[in-house]
Amino acid sequence: MDIFGMRDFDDHELVVFGRDAGHGLSAIIAVHSTVLGPAAGGCRMWPYPSTAEAVTDALRLSRGMSYKNALAGLPFGGGKAVIIGDSRNSRSPELFEAYGRFVDSLGGRYVTAEDVGTTLADMEQVARATRHVSGLRRAGGAAGGDPAPRTALGVFLGIKAAVQFRMGRSGLEDLSVAVQGVGGVGYHLCRLLAAEGVRLRVADVRSDATERVRDELNATVTHVDAVLSEDVDVVAPCALGAILNAQTIPQLRARIVAGAANNQLANDQDGVALQLKGVLYAPDYVINAGGIISVAREYVGGTTEAQVTAEIQVIPARLTEIFERARREKRPTNAVADEMARERIGRSARRRVDATAA
Ligand code: NAD
Repeated sequence: MDIFGMRDFDDHELVVFGRDAGHGLSAIIAVHSTVLGPAAGGCRMWPYPSTAEAVTDALRLSRGMSYKNALAGLPFGGGKAVIIGDSRNSRSPELFEAYGRFVDSLGGRYVTAEDVGTTLADMEQVARATRHVSGLRRAGGAAGGDPAPRTALGVFLGIKAAVQFRMGRSGLEDLSVAVQGVGGVGYHLCRLLAAEGVRLRVADVRSDATERVRDELNATVTHVDAVLSEDVDVVAPCALGAILNAQTIPQLRARIVAGAANNQLANDQDGVALQLKGVLYAPDYVINAGGIISVAREYVGGTTEAQVTAEIQVIPARLTEIFERARREKRPTNAVADEMARERIGRSARRRVDATAA
């Protein structure tokens, strides 16, 4: 496999393969950048059809984490881990402990946490083998724990900012939002939206997940193939990546796309397509930073839950800055966000070089 030649290779500092056959572990850790600090990002467990697809995901997700952590103002670089396997039937405490040993072998250059397919309980197994893990159970009042509700809060506030910018409305009452994926983040997002009087349409490949929001929040369940093209005000992708692409963008009817999923755009050009269609896109790694803010503050220590909430409340202002700059410069919002993130990482890298030279 020609990793250096892969389209998604972006001068990543490190890509390592970890195998513990005895405990069923095949994993990849990608460290995109440590310019701002140790590379932080979650661990995804997914039944990738090929190693190449797992590497591609790790490369893309870790770069996204560099940008996310930079724009969230965190003292962390970007990294991501993927475990190749089906989280529904291949998980075991031993596998996650073996994964913890793999993380530990990097000596703190990468800090892990939960992501799609991994849970807080899994991270507690990881913590048996390494201290470079976050997203663990915390005593009352301290920052940390399951990041999904924190991510959902940031997405909720981000949707409000997008509605304010695009529709000139300060509240969400009576608006309609289609949520793709009602797992950890999607479920909590639905609760916040329902409490504001939003009409919900939801889809998930798991019927137990949609039944819960239908029964608890009076959401209308729609088909997974139809959710992105629903006639709603906002589409909130909260499942997997690359769902905004040449097939789906022409079918969008919502004026706003704002959700938690990472890497929503199949490629950067899809941001141009959204701009040309007049759809306001909230760059994924900006709007979904609530979880990493919580995880990062937990890892560093000494931060309260209330301080994390205050940091998450900055997400709408950051998004509005991006929306305004994109409108002023007539550019896609994702391009503006990427540029702002690279500016911050670049400034820090230059300071590092200057300090070494001095
Ligand atoms: P999750 O696994 O708990 O939930 C994802 C849900 O999407 C599941 O219920 C799953 O059944 C559903 N799903 C999968 N494929 C689908 C499809 N084709 N159509 C509809 N539904 C589908 O994951 P999560 O933690 O809620 O994360 C959701 C997304 O948000 C992911 O992209 C993740 O990377 C991103 N994200 C999560 C966090 C966090 O704090 N958990 C933080 C930042 C970003």
